Amino acid sequence: MIHYQLKCCDEHSFDGWFRDSAAYEKQSASGDIECPYCGKTEITKAPMAPSIGKAADDADTLTTEASTTEVSTTEARAQKVAQQILEAATKAREYVEENFENVGDDFADEARAMHNGEREEGGIYGNATDAEEKELEEDGVDFVRIPANGGKNN
Ligand SMILES: [Zn+2]
Repeated sequence: MIHYQLKCCDEHSFDGWFRDSAAYEKQSASGDIECPYCGKTEITKAPMAPSIGKAADDADTLTTEASTTEVSTTEARAQKVAQQILEAATKAREYVEENFENVGDDFADEARAMHNGEREEGGIYGNATDAEEKELEEDGVDFVRIPANGGKNN
C-alpha cells in the first residue's frame, strides 16, 4: 500500500491509500478519486514524501522513541547510575553471603589467622571495627570492604 496526502482544486486536503503509485495515477486520471469534502475529482498530490507500508510506520516510532530519550533529564540519568551501583553492591554482598563463611565479630581474628596460615584458606566475611581494619591493613591482610545492609562496613 502507498499513502498520499491529496488535495482537491478547492484546497481541501485528505489522505488517500492506493495499491501502488500506478493505481493512484490511473484512478486520478479517470476521475475516480473524489474529494471527501466537496466531491470534486480534480485531485493533486500534496508535496510530501509518501510513506509505504509498515517499515515506514516503524521508522516513525523509532524517531519518537529517540526524541523521548533525548528529553530525559540529567537527574534521571544520575538516578539510573546510582541504581546500577546499588544493584552491583547488593549483588556483591549476596554473593559473599552465599559463598563465604560468616564469622561475625571474629572477622579480624579469623582473617589474621588465615593470613598467618593458622586457619584453612577460604572465604569469610563478618564485621570489623575501624581499628581492627586498620590493624589488618598494617599486617598486610587482604580484605575487601563491602557495603552491608544498613550501611555498616564489613
Ligand atoms: Zn474539495
